[in-house]
Amino acid sequence: MRVHGDIRITRSSNVILEKDYSNYRDPLLADFSNICGYCGKHISVAKKGFEIDHFVPISTDETRICDYNNLVMSCFTCNRKKGPKWPTEDKELCHDGFHGFVDPATDEFDTHLGRDLNGAIEHYTDVGDYMCGVFKFSIRPTDIVWKSMELVKRKKQLYNIRKNSKLDNDEKELFIEIQEELDRLLEYLLGEGE
Ligand SMILES: [Zn+2]
Repeated sequence: MRVHGDIRITRSSNVILEKDYSNYRDPLLADFSNICGYCGKHISVAKKGFEIDHFVPISTDETRICDYNNLVMSCFTCNRKKGPKWPTEDKELCHDGFHGFVDPATDEFDTHLGRDLNGAIEHYTDVGDYMCGVFKFSIRPTDIVWKSMELVKRKKQLYNIRKNSKLDNDEKELFIEIQEELDRLLEYLLGEGE
């Protein structure tokens, strides 16, 4: 399974140039389909919100501070864990085959990281292992995040049924069950700093 599920992240090439990178938040959210590029968490289950990450950190290459192609929509937790890390120390080299990062808006991302059957993030390469270490995926509840996102999707499906006709009693019960389970998981995720 992919970290990003069914979503393919592609940066638009026609965004209006900005002098302040924070103004790119809306187009970036749209290009990232409201998920964190690194852990795939949807904004609807991100209790601590989203931030804009500089893929090549500003401390490594300050010329790319407003370069749209250098921006990654990131959840608060992933952004804080990545910080100014850039192990190759070469601004042109994102990884050396062992250490470094892969841009979430590339197909290469999927060759290094994915999800197991429960939705927990796992690595397939040394670079993936490095990223798992930086983002602490092995000790973060990436499977619970995935489960919460599945519940949000199921809720939306039920909403869509309701649009055309009323929910029957079984569906109403199911809706309440989903909402209760989701509330419980989101409470847990907040406690875990997600
Ligand atoms: Zn994240």
